[in-house]
Amino acid sequence: MLKLQNVDHYQFKDSDVQKTIDTEVLVVGAGNAGMMAAAAAAEKGTKVTVVEKEDSINLLRLGIGGVGTNAQKRAGLTINKYDLVEYLAAFAQHNVDEGLIYHWANHSAEAVNWVEDNILKPHGAHLRSEPDAMVTSSAYEGFPTENDPTTDDKTFASYGKWFQEKVEDMGVKLQFKTALVKLLTTEDQVTGAIVKDLKNDEFIQINASKGVILCTGGYSANKDLLKQWNPVALKKNVYNDSPRNNGAGITSALNVGAIKDEEPAECIFDRGLVPVGTKTGDMYVQTATYKDWLWLASHPLLKLNMRGERFANESIPYQFIVNAASKQPGYLYSMIWDDNFSEYAKQFHMLGCARVGFPGYMASAQKLREDTQQYVDKGLVVKADSIEELAEKLHLPVKTVKQSVKRNNELVVDNIDKDFGKEAFRLTPINKKPYYGCILGGRILCTFDGLRVNKKMEVVNDQFDPIQHLYAAGNDSGGFFFGSYPDRVPGLAASHAQTFGRLAGQQAAEN
Ligand SMILES: Cc1cc2nc3c(=O)[nH]c(=O)nc-3n(C[C@H](O)[C@H](O)[C@H](O)COP(=O)(O)OP(=O)(O)OC[C@H]3O[C@@H](n4cnc5c(N)ncnc54)[C@H](O)[C@@H]3O)c2cc1C
Repeated sequence: MLKLQNVDHYQFKDSDVQKTIDTEVLVVGAGNAGMMAAAAAAEKGTKVTVVEKEDSINLLRLGIGGVGTNAQKRAGLTINKYDLVEYLAAFAQHNVDEGLIYHWANHSAEAVNWVEDNILKPHGAHLRSEPDAMVTSSAYEGFPTENDPTTDDKTFASYGKWFQEKVEDMGVKLQFKTALVKLLTTEDQVTGAIVKDLKNDEFIQINASKGVILCTGGYSANKDLLKQWNPVALKKNVYNDSPRNNGAGITSALNVGAIKDEEPAECIFDRGLVPVGTKTGDMYVQTATYKDWLWLASHPLLKLNMRGERFANESIPYQFIVNAASKQPGYLYSMIWDDNFSEYAKQFHMLGCARVGFPGYMASAQKLREDTQQYVDKGLVVKADSIEELAEKLHLPVKTVKQSVKRNNELVVDNIDKDFGKEAFRLTPINKKPYYGCILGGRILCTFDGLRVNKKMEVVNDQFDPIQHLYAAGNDSGGFFFGSYPDRVPGLAASHAQTFGRLAGQQAAEN
């Protein structure tokens, strides 16, 4: 088992406790898992306190996966659970607890339907399933798992505020600006936690008679932990889009005898625009605002390494192009395209948020152009009337880039990608001026390697026995992912968090 260092986020001595609060269930982190855990425990009549270190709940995600949800039934969709779970386990090379994945598949619809019935419907919203996930190549089967909150079937409906009102109505006490410091234990169980009230600068002891549920969302904001558990993530990624998640939940549990996944797992998006000349490693920008995020970058346009050579099939899961670039010099890569790009978007049939049109974030081809143009104006996407000029502006070898573009155009004419096997319908020429280009790196959205849990969401020790009254859900919990995120199962991350949050809340309430 891994031996782990103590990460002490706040200097604390026992004599520093200024206040004591009694509750039954303490949920740490008001995000996707935490809010579901709180609602589920409160629904069973339990007294619930949620501590959240920021001054708001985290964004509750819009693309939510599920198997056999009511929205899917209304759309006439069926998903073969066995095929789906086998796909997920195979994607992880079975470095997962397959029983946990079945547990998710068996319970995901309950969680999704609960959100629809209790949070969305009272506000005139509903879930719409994304029905047309498809097989683009036999290596990457797609599953139509995504359910999208909406009122008009054309735009997303944000539901965090409704969710917060609902749990407060249920009697849950939400304490913002309050951060986990450490767990409290007796010999045989977790009894509560020390938290810090960041507004009043005081330490509080919270006694939780039925248990503590850790939902702090992993550790992608903590560079020291990344160095220890997933060092290559710091080379592949130039942005972290989850600055709230500093690993407090995971480290607090390790300090009371828990174990965690031994291999890293993370979700990376391929949309990290960086200035020409950036060296990876120089940049790890923490942002929750989609800063310099190029939506177009997920489209299967020509991608070249920093030597100007094509290096992979661009029609692969988002994260895979970033992984592939990590085997090339410099870890970053470039993308080159022509002025017809918004037309090509229509033929690509992208899924989830990369789609043009709902449930993508680019409502139309015109919006995609506008989104791209803002980065031309910022100088992060460069534009030129010749490939020579473009390559020079991108600091790439001119001769090699010209050869790569020429080869791309030949493959389009032949209608077959003889070099990397991209599907013919995703081969597009680069022959209409102006030409565009940019330099890209990864954006880590979250880490997934987390605390080992059993099906009751109890955190286990190195004997795989539960640590009594300690639960974890969402990205603080592990055993479910390995390596990269399977984006052809859209909404899986949010659903994993919400489903397991719900199960943890129900379970803790039973104590
Ligand atoms: C830009 C972006 C887009 C995404 N889109 C999707 C999508 O469409 N579909 C999908 O399935 N997934 C998506 N994801 C992934 C998904 O958001 C995560 O997998 C999910 O949020 C994990 O839920 P969680 O509850 O574990 O963590 P979070 O939702 O991150 O919640 C953790 C909470 O814990 C709080 N916290 C942290 N430390 C402490 C502490 N010490 N004390 C108290 N509170 C603490 C944090 O402030 C935060 O509010 C996206 C992620 C990003 C960044």
